Amino acid sequence: MSEDCIFCSIVAGDIPGRIVRETNHAVAFLDANPLAPGHTLVVPKQHYGRLNEIPGDEAADLFDAVHDLSAAVEDAVDADAVSIGINDGEAAGQEVPHTHVHLVPRFEGDGGGPFHAINPSSEQPSEDELDEIAEAVRER
Ligand code: 5GP
Ligand code: ZN
Repeated sequence: MSEDCIFCSIVAGDIPGRIVRETNHAVAFLDANPLAPGHTLVVPKQHYGRLNEIPGDEAADLFDAVHDLSAAVEDAVDADAVSIGINDGEAAGQEVPHTHVHLVPRFEGDGGGPFHAINPSSEQPSEDELDEIAEAVRER
């Protein structure tokens, strides 16, 4: 647990959270400032800042909860779809430094965009650049 981490405090029960699921390594609760009804956050119980800091078994448990909750949340608020995402790092918009997965219910015509709206005018890479990037990822 990290002192003065809001999500650690929710996991510990020190501050109230509308918890909707608890597993061995993860807790899910409603977002306090929802982008849509049912906006849910799934967090590891331990304090990890970034996704890649979570050990594999704990990450598997977390994503198992995300998998289950995607249908549960959509159904609970009678939504048509769910946007699922992680702002992984400050430059990606992460504000709470305890990694978390957003499940945002989506409704036909809700006016929200897809993930492509993150950067609609991004320059398209050449075939060579795509090859280079793919190789760099494979190497790692
Ligand atoms: P981020 O920008 O870090 O990806 O998302 C942080 C999310 O945490 C935001 O959607 C914000 O509304 C939510 N949040 C911030 N503080 C609290 C809190 O005290 N309780 C709950 N339930 N959600 C919070
Ligand atoms: Zn924390």
